[in-house]
Amino acid sequence: MEQIEIGSSGIRASRIGLGTWAIGGWMWGGIDEREAIATIQRAVGLGVTLIDTAPVYGFGRSEEIVGKALKEAGLRGKVQIATKAGLDWKDGKVFRDSRAARLRTEVEDSLRRLQTDVLDVYQIHWPDLETPLEETARVLEDLRREGKIRAIGVSNFSPAQMDAFRAVATLDAVQPPYNLFERDIEADVLPYAARTGLTVLSYGAICRGLLSGRIDASTTYEGDDLRKIDPKFSGERFQEYLAAVQALEALARERFGKSVLALAVRWVLDKGPTIALWGARRPQQLDPVGEILGWHIDAQSMADIDAILARCIREPIAPTYMAPPVKRP
Ligand code: NAP
Repeated sequence: MEQIEIGSSGIRASRIGLGTWAIGGWMWGGIDEREAIATIQRAVGLGVTLIDTAPVYGFGRSEEIVGKALKEAGLRGKVQIATKAGLDWKDGKVFRDSRAARLRTEVEDSLRRLQTDVLDVYQIHWPDLETPLEETARVLEDLRREGKIRAIGVSNFSPAQMDAFRAVATLDAVQPPYNLFERDIEADVLPYAARTGLTVLSYGAICRGLLSGRIDASTTYEGDDLRKIDPKFSGERFQEYLAAVQALEALARERFGKSVLALAVRWVLDKGPTIALWGARRPQQLDPVGEILGWHIDAQSMADIDAILARCIREPIAPTYMAPPVKRP
């Protein structure tokens, strides 16, 4: 497994991270707990040591399942747990809250659910525009000094917000969306991270399954699965993205003898100081891990990939529909 240090924290982590949003069930049409536990344990067996979760994923469920999977197999010492704070919920509605009191409560809740005494990476999930960033940064720095967390991260933050945060606390990581189809961070967050020594935990490495090569026009989704409302998964846009997947699959096979999923995750790893967060909830979904490691995408192929994307997708769209409301209720 390839590894990377998270910022200046001294923590080394695998460059492929297991994403556990779907393991919480919420917005992914439910979950089978035994399969989820087996997935987490298999990931660690394959050398994936960074596990990304959040309180809001299933309103505690994802963290609980991660804690259970690690405890049951005695794996806590082998992994780095990255979790988050700064989102609250009421009656199934999510809102931002990164006030000091909320973060103090959340850290204790996460430690309990994850059955651990320290969180390796603690990230603010979304910027709370109603709370001064300094207040949020200060409490995280205090939590680090107290030994409850080891590294600090932010998610969905702009460079200006990170500048304000870094004036108060040492920042180690940033977690933005980043994959072949969602590349906005190349204009700002990615160069900022490279310049300031942050590790980028890129989320949605296979664009919610679109880049797995397994999705086509006949794929259906259960219950509250977010792909029912994702604009990439419907209408003409969906056809454009599917055409891009087909062309990328051909390139991956002809040049590298790889699947489009392996190409997509490798592409994230070859773009900067990144960890590719790849969500899985069934053990066999992790079969391609080995196929991603030990090779690189050359400059000509990078350019050819850009040309495929430009040819197939007329107007790329960002995953802005995921953002929780800015105002507290
Ligand atoms: P993703 O990694 O792009 O896609 C995950 C989905 O792809 C899986 O749930 C699975 O869906 C499908 N999949 C995975 N492996 C597959 C395989 N081998 N073959 C076919 N399909 C496969 O999306 P994501 O889970 O949204 O993102 C990764 C992680 O990033 C999350 O789990 C979470 O930890 C983090 N994240 C963070 C934020 C944030 O705001 N900070 C936002 C989004 C995500 P099915 O099981 O339905 O097939």
